[in-house]
Amino acid sequence: MTAVQHDVLDTDGDTGVDRVRVAIVGAGFAGLGMAIRLRQAGHHDFTVFERAAEVGGTWRDNSYPGAAVDVRSHLYSYSFAPNPDWTQVLAGQAELWDYIRRVSRENGVMDHVRLETEVLSGAWDEQAQRWRLQTSRGEVEAQFVVSAMGPLSRPSVPDLPGLGTFAGHVFHSGRWDHEHDLTGKRVGVIGTGSSAAQFIPEIQPEVAHLTVFQRTPHWTFPRLNRRITDRERALYHRFPALQRLVRARQYWYHELVLGSAVQNPLVTETVSKLRLRRQVKDPELRRKLTPGYRMGCKRIVINDTFLPALTKPNVDLVTDPIARITPTGVLTADGTEHLLDTIVLGTGFQVMPVADPLRGRAGDTLTERWAERRAAHLGTSVHGFPNYFMLVGPNTATGHTSILLYAEPQIEYVLQALEHADRHGIGSFEVRQSAQDAYNVGIQERLATTVWTTGGCDSWYLNERDGTSVLWPGFTWSFRKALRRFDHENYEMTRTPRPHA
Ligand code: NAP
Repeated sequence: MTAVQHDVLDTDGDTGVDRVRVAIVGAGFAGLGMAIRLRQAGHHDFTVFERAAEVGGTWRDNSYPGAAVDVRSHLYSYSFAPNPDWTQVLAGQAELWDYIRRVSRENGVMDHVRLETEVLSGAWDEQAQRWRLQTSRGEVEAQFVVSAMGPLSRPSVPDLPGLGTFAGHVFHSGRWDHEHDLTGKRVGVIGTGSSAAQFIPEIQPEVAHLTVFQRTPHWTFPRLNRRITDRERALYHRFPALQRLVRARQYWYHELVLGSAVQNPLVTETVSKLRLRRQVKDPELRRKLTPGYRMGCKRIVINDTFLPALTKPNVDLVTDPIARITPTGVLTADGTEHLLDTIVLGTGFQVMPVADPLRGRAGDTLTERWAERRAAHLGTSVHGFPNYFMLVGPNTATGHTSILLYAEPQIEYVLQALEHADRHGIGSFEVRQSAQDAYNVGIQERLATTVWTTGGCDSWYLNERDGTSVLWPGFTWSFRKALRRFDHENYEMTRTPRPHA
């Protein structure tokens, strides 16, 4: 499907440059949520640029067997587009992807999406107070840019010596090769995070042998999934307030049970240990699977089938470090070569890859600006980048609940900013360096005592350069509170109203 809608872009007859007021980069959950809310608020002059041939972000790309959300679905959906039809408490990938596409269609957003259009570069034109974007389909001028490229959108391929020499087949969980039949094959899986824990139990029954390479054991926690009955769904249709009530209950479950696992993990660690003891009878295997750091330090693996799968006769859990990949398998540091036909990389994602191609007012990219530390004001705006907003930027991710509880306050914040610009004839605004710095000092102080920095582990939450610039150091309500009002006093504004034409 290639729906390239030129009608939503206003083309300058002289230059051929397309113009739009708001350019959204990325059509995943956050970008489409921004688009839906713009439509709902009466804005029509916006375009979503998506490099892929379909919308859906994470839920388009992560189609591995068993891919599912581990945050309850009523909560892992837009508050402004509830879905009474979830068939499971924790929906699978296909259902989530359908939901995103359906609500985008129903809210009239698909007409604003330019598929297979990558934003290649962009620069702030100070004089015109506009962003000039080079896309794979031509130049676009935009007053505002909302970057919604996803913090975990690029697979991380480990730098393992010899990986390129492997004679079998290699692919990453985030780009599952559905053409490659694993039946009867000797399969090696590298990584035991949330993704691997979901696909390992699915592929284990069909492969001849499964070798799981674990670098660090993860804490696991019960998933508590079940089917949602037809009767429940009918009730949600009839009484939407009931669904909101269920959503509220799920919100508090994630905040209080899983959020507390991060704040005070004693009880949840005990639950996890008891479950490990019940699910894994072999003491040696249990020893290998017992984490040596505090729960919550790494993302908790919320899964019921992973540990039992590891106990199956055709599965080996290897904890010796990988020395290198050979043409025929994986050589571990103890000198054993594990012979394999296929290697599946469950090795996670580059975090906030800042594939961000834009150059700000001083001509630098975010990558350059963030050489020392990734920092933004409220995780949303960056000094030096006028009229630029990021969804799920630095310190806005979560380990315990729905990422949408962070993206939605950001979306509302951007809407308020646009309304402020309309009301006061603002051409551009740029967050003050002092406001951004003050905000980040507070964040880093709070992060210093969290389990992510003190829990004794390494994880994608941490960054070699700057500690943790990924997660929000608290519960969701404090993030929502911080963004509840567009704090225009923290922005320098240019009152040069330039009617968009
Ligand atoms: P991940 O949590 O980053 O796990 C990557 C795994 O690969 C880890 O076990 C890691 O070991 C291992 N690894 C990485 N490089 C390695 C190397 N060079 N040698 C050996 N092992 C290596 O990635 P993920 O499982 O794809 O999950 C990423 C995030 O996506 C999750 O944390 C979660 O936030 C999200 N997710 C959510 C769901 C859901 O249900 N909502 C499902 C899947 C993923 P170390 O631990 O030692 O680094």
